[in-house]
Amino acid sequence: MVTDTDVVVVGAGIVGMATARALLDELPDLDVVVLEKESGPAQHQTGRNSGVVHSGCYYRPGSEKAELVRDGRAELLSFVAEHGLPLAESGKVVVATRTSELGPLAEIERRARANGIATRRLSGRDLCSVEPHARGIAALEVPSAAAVDYAAVTRALVDEFRARGGVVMHHAEVTSVATAPGGLGLATTAGAVRAKWLVNCAGLQSDRLARLCGADPGVRIVPFRGEYLSLRPEAAELCRTMIYPVPDPRWPFLGVHLTRGVDGSVHAGPNAVLALGREAYERGADVTDSLELARDPGLRRLATRYWATGAAELVRSRSVGLVARELRRMVPEVRAHDLVPAGSGIRAQALRPDGTLVDDFEFAVSPRAVHVVNAPSPAATASFAIGRTVARRLSALVAS
Ligand SMILES: Cc1cc2nc3c(=O)[nH]c(=O)nc-3n(C[C@H](O)[C@H](O)[C@H](O)COP(=O)(O)OP(=O)(O)OC[C@H]3O[C@@H](n4cnc5c(N)ncnc54)[C@H](O)[C@@H]3O)c2cc1C
Repeated sequence: MVTDTDVVVVGAGIVGMATARALLDELPDLDVVVLEKESGPAQHQTGRNSGVVHSGCYYRPGSEKAELVRDGRAELLSFVAEHGLPLAESGKVVVATRTSELGPLAEIERRARANGIATRRLSGRDLCSVEPHARGIAALEVPSAAAVDYAAVTRALVDEFRARGGVVMHHAEVTSVATAPGGLGLATTAGAVRAKWLVNCAGLQSDRLARLCGADPGVRIVPFRGEYLSLRPEAAELCRTMIYPVPDPRWPFLGVHLTRGVDGSVHAGPNAVLALGREAYERGADVTDSLELARDPGLRRLATRYWATGAAELVRSRSVGLVARELRRMVPEVRAHDLVPAGSGIRAQALRPDGTLVDDFEFAVSPRAVHVVNAPSPAATASFAIGRTVARRLSALVAS
């Protein structure tokens, strides 16, 4: 049987589902089908993250990240409220523990101000009144940070999309895309699909899908695994809200932090280790992915530049004691025996051939398709606005 539709969205993560929703608003006369290779939505990045609704204090003013987080978080929070989904409006603190971190902390404060986000500068003593077990020489309080369950948000998006007439097919992996008269012919593990247009929200596989569509995304997705630990319930009071270090401005990850989720449990992590497989959650290796990475000139350039950071992260990933030591810089009472393994997630991070990690969100258009090329954190926070951006780009393609 062949499925015929106007638009296919590939990927039922939060970006794919938010895009599918926006397409129904932007192009109400078109049929939209979402194709997902797994047995349900949100099984990759969307269901394996920190659950933080970022405020937008880190991002360069004027960047896609700054603007789409600002618009997207507002829409996400009203969707969460409308659907009665869990939300923890805790706020967070970014803690400087060394004098060398005061400059980068001031830069975060400056960016927050430019992005219209309220923050409060805390002395070491003020910090204790917000987070009694945290210690630092200075900190920034960001009251608008919150936590949600992104998998639950995505499931609610699927229900709403279906109620509005959209179709979501599971076990439907797109394996090839060919140009057909008036559109595209897709081979999937659930049968053939004909569509006039395609939207690529395939996360960790998005560069491959773009190439299947005949487009050159100009990047390769590099998988960075992040491992989580959680604080045993008896130690969970060591973190009331969320406690972050000052991130290394040269690296696109936020450093190992403590976050209290919507269920009250406190997670520590994630670190950032190069994964030898795009979906290798258990530290194994995927032969195709590893060979592809080994041959990638961009990755070799990146490795030359960041070998010390990468090696330190790798060593830390093997030792709960080293994670505890890192956390003790901010919360001196954390002990290794307070921490238990709590799963992992893999980030899809786009890398250019010159070895540069793409910092901002990035999109590309090819004949009959729009591709989400780079949507790493905070793309879950920004997903509703990313969806609207992509839907507008597809609408322009449809009109052309
Ligand atoms: C460890 C970690 C922590 C993070 N923390 C946060 C956070 O606290 N806050 C925040 O805002 N963001 C966070 N992020 C980022 C956020 O989770 C992602 O940016 C977001 O989930 C991306 O959503 P997505 O829909 O693009 O990707 P995904 O959720 O990965 O979805 C892509 C989907 O495409 C499907 N797919 C792939 N290829 C095919 C194919 N060929 N055919 C059919 N289906 C296909 C996959 O099965 C998958 O379901 C974090 C990410 C990680 C990994």
